[in-house]
Amino acid sequence: MTNKYMYFVANWKMFGDLRSLNSLDKVIKFSKNYKKNKLKIVYCPPNTLIRPLSRRLKKTKIEVGAQNCHHSYDYGAHTGQVNSTMLKNVGAKYVILGHSENRQLGETDNLINLKIKSAIKSGLKIIFCIGETLKERRQKKTNQILKRQIEKGLKSINNRSKIIIAYEPVWSIGTGVIPKEADLNKTISFIKSRFIKKYPKILYGGSVNTNNVSILKKIPNIDGFLIGGASQIPKKFIDIIQKTIN
Ligand code: PEP
Repeated sequence: MTNKYMYFVANWKMFGDLRSLNSLDKVIKFSKNYKKNKLKIVYCPPNTLIRPLSRRLKKTKIEVGAQNCHHSYDYGAHTGQVNSTMLKNVGAKYVILGHSENRQLGETDNLINLKIKSAIKSGLKIIFCIGETLKERRQKKTNQILKRQIEKGLKSINNRSKIIIAYEPVWSIGTGVIPKEADLNKTISFIKSRFIKKYPKILYGGSVNTNNVSILKKIPNIDGFLIGGASQIPKKFIDIIQKTIN
């Protein structure tokens, strides 16, 4: 275990209901027993569960985040939308922005930039997702894509202390395939050295599981993981954390 904080961010996507919260007792118990380690566990459930989850986690160090927000900081006539202030009001401390599943639905770098600005204004921490598609990777455009996503996504944001980058290659999400260790090492260093010199926290996301985490944790510049599928099963989530910190 290194001396730095390691993040374990659970992205539940569009899964989970009130009954799913019961399963978290195992993770709560686990987190209480790990006082000596510098862990940040963040659960990002669907919006419907943010309030009940943050209540349940009140006496723990586990934090709660949201998975997206509207770009407007102000209230307004935006049917079906929720802004960052509303999320903060119900207990969210973080918000995931720029996730590829939302980029695929049409979110642009400019829109993500507005969302990040609004979330900063509300006092949320941002887990800012970037990553190339398989086609872009095959065309050897990975660095070019990441550079664009970072530059446009963080445009005019000078104070980046609340921003954590999550590098999530799109071709790795939900596929069981992870980048080769050497490639991931290079990409993480590229992100870190060129674009976020001052507050360089970088997570890796994409098919993290109990088998591959022993390889992934060797990447020196990684500050933790954004975990989708495996985070919905407490035993797997705990296993990933244990294998990373031990
Ligand atoms: C994600 O969607 O952010 C993610 C990392 O998913 P998975 O772990 O299931 O690949």
